[in-house]
Amino acid sequence: MNFPTTSNSATMPRTDELWHTLSGEKTTELLKSDRDRGLSIDRVYERQLYFGSNELKETARRGALGILWDQFTNIMLVMLIAVAIVSAILDLRQNNFPKDAIAIFSIVILNGILGYFQESRAEKALAALKRLSSPHVRVVRDGATQEIEAKELVPGDIMLLEAGVQIAADGRLLETRNFQIAESTLTGETTAIAKDAGAVLIENAPLGDRTNLVFQGTEVVQGRAKAIVTRTGMETEIGRIAAMIQAVESEPTPLQQRMTQLGNVLVGGSMALVALVVIVGVLRSGWSAFAELLEISLSMAVAVVPEGLPAVVTVTLAIGTQKMIRRQALIRKLPAVETLGSVTTICSDKTGTLTQNKMVVQKVYTGSDRFSVTGEGYEPSGTFYCQDNNQIEISLEVRKLFQACVLCNDALLQSTHNPVTKTTDWTILGDPTEGALLTLAGKIGIFKEELKQMPRVEEFPFDSERKRMSVIVADENRLSYQMFTKGSTESILERCDRIFIKDSPEPFTSTQKQEILETNNHLASIGLRVLGFAYKPLKEIPLASTEDESERDLIWLGLVGMLDAPRIEVKEAVQRCKRAGIRTMMITGDHPLTAMAIAGKLGIAALTDSSLTGQELEVMSTAELEQAVEKVNVYARVSPEHKLRIVQALQKRGEFVAMTGDGVNDAPALKQADIGIAMGITGTDVSKEASDMILLDDNFATIVAATEEGRVVYDNIRRFIKYILGSNIGEVLVIAAAPLLGLGGVPLSPLQILWMNLVTDGLPALALALEPAEPNVMSRPPHSPKESIFARGMGWYMVRIGIIFALLTITLMVWSYNYDSADHNPDRWKTMVFTTLCLAQMGHALAVRSDIKLTIEMNPFSNLYLLGAVTLTTVLQLLLIYVEPLRNFFDTHLLSPTELGICIGFSMLMFVWIEMEKLFQRWFLNRS
Ligand code: ATP
Repeated sequence: MNFPTTSNSATMPRTDELWHTLSGEKTTELLKSDRDRGLSIDRVYERQLYFGSNELKETARRGALGILWDQFTNIMLVMLIAVAIVSAILDLRQNNFPKDAIAIFSIVILNGILGYFQESRAEKALAALKRLSSPHVRVVRDGATQEIEAKELVPGDIMLLEAGVQIAADGRLLETRNFQIAESTLTGETTAIAKDAGAVLIENAPLGDRTNLVFQGTEVVQGRAKAIVTRTGMETEIGRIAAMIQAVESEPTPLQQRMTQLGNVLVGGSMALVALVVIVGVLRSGWSAFAELLEISLSMAVAVVPEGLPAVVTVTLAIGTQKMIRRQALIRKLPAVETLGSVTTICSDKTGTLTQNKMVVQKVYTGSDRFSVTGEGYEPSGTFYCQDNNQIEISLEVRKLFQACVLCNDALLQSTHNPVTKTTDWTILGDPTEGALLTLAGKIGIFKEELKQMPRVEEFPFDSERKRMSVIVADENRLSYQMFTKGSTESILERCDRIFIKDSPEPFTSTQKQEILETNNHLASIGLRVLGFAYKPLKEIPLASTEDESERDLIWLGLVGMLDAPRIEVKEAVQRCKRAGIRTMMITGDHPLTAMAIAGKLGIAALTDSSLTGQELEVMSTAELEQAVEKVNVYARVSPEHKLRIVQALQKRGEFVAMTGDGVNDAPALKQADIGIAMGITGTDVSKEASDMILLDDNFATIVAATEEGRVVYDNIRRFIKYILGSNIGEVLVIAAAPLLGLGGVPLSPLQILWMNLVTDGLPALALALEPAEPNVMSRPPHSPKESIFARGMGWYMVRIGIIFALLTITLMVWSYNYDSADHNPDRWKTMVFTTLCLAQMGHALAVRSDIKLTIEMNPFSNLYLLGAVTLTTVLQLLLIYVEPLRNFFDTHLLSPTELGICIGFSMLMFVWIEMEKLFQRWFLNRS
């Protein structure tokens, strides 16, 4: 029976042609597409079914077995396995059932399996993050330009490419303008390669010379192009060599590295301890004591190693990334989670990050007209009125200026009917600055469609160094051309020698230029973003890459001032930074006065402060710049390479810098910064690739929120390390003390120690990782990212608490040993030691929540996980004593209520001690 199929190979185009040997037209024909209208939606669906999703299979991802194997190569587990083997040999020699060994093995396996699930979950979470940061592509489908996810591309799709875009599939170029690509991911060639849609190449042209093709994974450095997709997914060049994984990087964080080092030191140290105890013991008491000595030293070795710690660190970092994503910050490199809390300076772009990036033109100044415009958002409706509040006539001057606004523009103004509200929603595709210009012109009925008879024939794209762009359009007769240029007022004005008045160009006087500059400064000083416009008639189309010569002798058309209001939440975020000892700096390509006006509104700079421009910065020596960055908070008219110098100067001064960026050229500064931050909405793929973190909402306040989360993560990590290692020190001292005090045997078996380290320490430690932010988290200065984990008194705390912990337990041990001298039941006193150690840790967990606040001063329900963990662990501990099979397995003794009460009493002393320490600090050291 034949089933109908929606897509069969006979109707599908072949993708294995030698595309570089074919012309653009032939390619489009073979791929059954249309260069202007693209594919129809039906065809897209058919092809998606047939060709599948445009994704690379991740060959480099670790398989399940790989992840499992890695669990057992952890040095701490290897040591435990060794302990299990030795313990088994000892038991078997004495004809005892090797219970400890079996238990240790089970724990090793359990730990391995848990680690496996944790890591595979973490890998899945990373893969999900990767999908979130996956690039979008602009395509033409059914005649309309739209943005889709890269994975939805199919052969035959028409892609629109511009600077900063990472190419999402292989394609044949149909149109190129000044188009250059960096192909180092594919060919290793680091210099950008100029591409040309017109080229038709010989069959055996090497990959690097196929200048009429674009390849997936490479990046557009300059210019603009239209290309037709020829191959997708694993069919692409990069898919074929299956090399590139643009995964979210999962490198270990500095802390994880230090933890691994700590693990190695502890394992090494405990091995040395085992050797020492055995050698000294044998020398003192002869070989007969060997077995017992080995047993003691093995217990000590197990006690000293914090088996639960690596898992808790991993989980905490994972929770940190999840919390950050809820606050709109996507972490690309795991170390950022922990180092974010150390940021001392945030260098932020202005447009879109500190401001809303919803531009509305408010002022228009031409040669002889000056007026204000009303209206909101991108809806092209509003009125024009002059200073005396009268509506104005639209002159030819204004029409020409608005024509320039629409023609010298790459954005698209789109309207959709909203059936619910029965209104039309206006949105833009592209740069909001350009969108605002389309809206402005739309207010007098000039739209792109109306100017179709003036097609674009060449362009010099916008770049933030030149701060301007030009397009060349053909006139209706197609015999002559016009160039329209727009950009920062200064950069346009200096290239004009005439001014358009009424209906023709006139000579431009220096007084007129001066007046325009003053107007420009006035508009900038009230916080408006100002753009200048000019044009010139041309007889011929200028050659690509001749922008500097071509953009001269222009005719001034006028300027427009647009409002880009500050984001409401930013002012408060800047204040929070101040309280947290973090400095906020604005680094923008915009005019210094606009920058200062916005910075003043947001509290980044006072009106009396000075700003520094890119030009001024250029002539400064490195030493001078290092001095300047200490005082100046606002940098205007800067180019991306200045950003790099600013970061370097700040870092030289010892600052830990977070820097935002969105353009292609921002990548070096983002890489140099300690935390490079890219914009999720407006950022280019290149900037995202170079970043440590992506702001999904482009908002400055998100950086501050992520910084706060970073501080909480770091505080919690320190908290549970303090908790776990303090207890380990106590355990070791107690084990060592027993033989020294002449009590027979080891107080704790390896099995009991493992139980404590993994369960009674592990569960509360995990809950401590979820401790909410302390109230002062954003009102204290940042800590150095280089500080040791033991800094700020933590090492001393662990030793101190370890000793107190041991002293308490040893007192109980001695007391309980002599409690009933007639009956030295070893299981009883050992069980009392075991129980006291476990329960004292519960008190420690509750008290360690805050360094300053007493437990009674804190809301007990603010960390329900901890309450749960403490209750559960206490119940489990009691089960080991009161349930017979568990009692037999763990070698515990049935304690009477009095004995249990004594253990609880001693345990509580631990809690009391830590609370007393806090009071002592408060009263005598004046810390609150
Ligand atoms: P920020 O660096 O804070 O994002 P910005 O958007 O002003 O601010 P750039 O994008 O580098 O920085 O722009 C620098 C200047 O170039 C702007 O102030 C404006 O004068 C001009 N400009 C911006 N966008 C365009 C554009 N699409 N076409 C022409 N000129 C532009």
